[in-house]
Amino acid sequence: MKTPPNSEDELEEDNDSDDACPVFRESARFGEFHLEVGIKFGTKWDFREAVREYTIQEGRRIRLAKNDNIRCMAVCKVKECPWVIYASRDHKDTCWQIKTFNNNHTCPREDRNRAANRNWVCSKLVKKIRKYPNFRHCEATTYFRTRFDLTLNKNSISRALMDARSVVYGDEKEQYKMVRDYGLTLLKTNPGTNINSARGDAQRALSFLRLAFVEKF
Ligand SMILES: [Zn+2]
Repeated sequence: MKTPPNSEDELEEDNDSDDACPVFRESARFGEFHLEVGIKFGTKWDFREAVREYTIQEGRRIRLAKNDNIRCMAVCKVKECPWVIYASRDHKDTCWQIKTFNNNHTCPREDRNRAANRNWVCSKLVKKIRKYPNFRHCEATTYFRTRFDLTLNKNSISRALMDARSVVYGDEKEQYKMVRDYGLTLLKTNPGTNINSARGDAQRALSFLRLAFVEKF
């Protein structure tokens, strides 16, 4: 596949030494999040989420100036600010790679109105609720303030908590339903089976699934 000629091509720098390029890992602590030319991502979505995380860390707002199947460019929302990041899809191994990165914001840092949208806030809370099922509103407020230097309003947190719980417990409801259906099928096909033992099996299976979830996240 060839990149069609266009006005943005000058952003693409020569980048033949692919082998030495680091692959992006999302494990960095907040504040130590690092992006640079050459870093590779599995998908465009991974690249965009990394840029979102970075933007939240840096306390700025950005917008997508280009976004298609082969290129993705984000610029600072402040018109005069030169900050830009540009990634394109690698023609050979279909990963996405940062080709241009000017990390110099001339605009001031903000402590609100960042790229922390409902999905992003929810995704952070899903991980928390999976680990701590009773994670509360005030704990969420503190978590975002201390971990991300981010002041979120009450309603945003309430909405995101609701979303996150429905992701976590929605999952569990589905699983429980599957296990219960299995139990009912057992009862139908084996009329002698005790309903309580079927329930017990379902509960044990559910506990196992919960454990599997906690370990996974
Ligand atoms: Zn800026």
